[in-house]
Amino acid sequence: MTRVTIWNEGRHEQKNQTIAEIYPQGIHGAIAAGLEPYGFTLRTATLDEPEHGLSDAVLAETDVLTWWGHMAHGDVHDSVVEKVQQRVLEGMGLIVLHSGHFSKIFKRLMGTSCDLKWREANEKERLWVVEPGHPIVEGIGEYIEIEREEMYGEHFDIPAPEELVLVSWFKGGEIFRSGCCYRRGNGKIFYFRPGHETYPTYYNAEVLRVIANAVRWAAPTAGPHPVRGNAKPLEAL
Ligand code: ZN
Repeated sequence: MTRVTIWNEGRHEQKNQTIAEIYPQGIHGAIAAGLEPYGFTLRTATLDEPEHGLSDAVLAETDVLTWWGHMAHGDVHDSVVEKVQQRVLEGMGLIVLHSGHFSKIFKRLMGTSCDLKWREANEKERLWVVEPGHPIVEGIGEYIEIEREEMYGEHFDIPAPEELVLVSWFKGGEIFRSGCCYRRGNGKIFYFRPGHETYPTYYNAEVLRVIANAVRWAAPTAGPHPVRGNAKPLEAL
């Protein structure tokens, strides 16, 4: 069974009453509840726990890590970022959500600024599926509509996605690459855009379905373990 650790900064929920009312169990709690029917082994971890809840033992037992952060990216210890990067290179899946685009771990894995255009204006978002056969959009229609969301617009300063699965349109006119797949080392990474903290986006069944599909896609496979360095010939030379 795929072991998922749902990581959340968890600061907005402590500091802002409106957000605490939308997510009384925290954003991590809402995502965990939403993934419950999918049959994963779930745990949550937050910034204010020792080692941000991501001890060596937790990371070793994590197949896929999901990451939501926004106001406190700078409070994430570099030593933890280093360990998460190492686990991704070893094969752990990583799903970066919404404002996680500016997290230390995502910027490090992408190698670019990951900056973008944004606006908070209660806009409709329509996420178009542009890779219909992709496992991350299994069970999704032509598009997903979210009645009110924050706008993220291009240009999004990321490396060209290896697979682009979803593209968002916003009522104000912008578009955005909102479902992006990457591989780093043995690990798979999916960036998924929706999820601003002042909207109930992580109760949306289709959004949760995409996250669940992405967990399955990003889970490590029992492929060969690469051997590098000086090698003896397999045949007599
Ligand atoms: Zn946001």
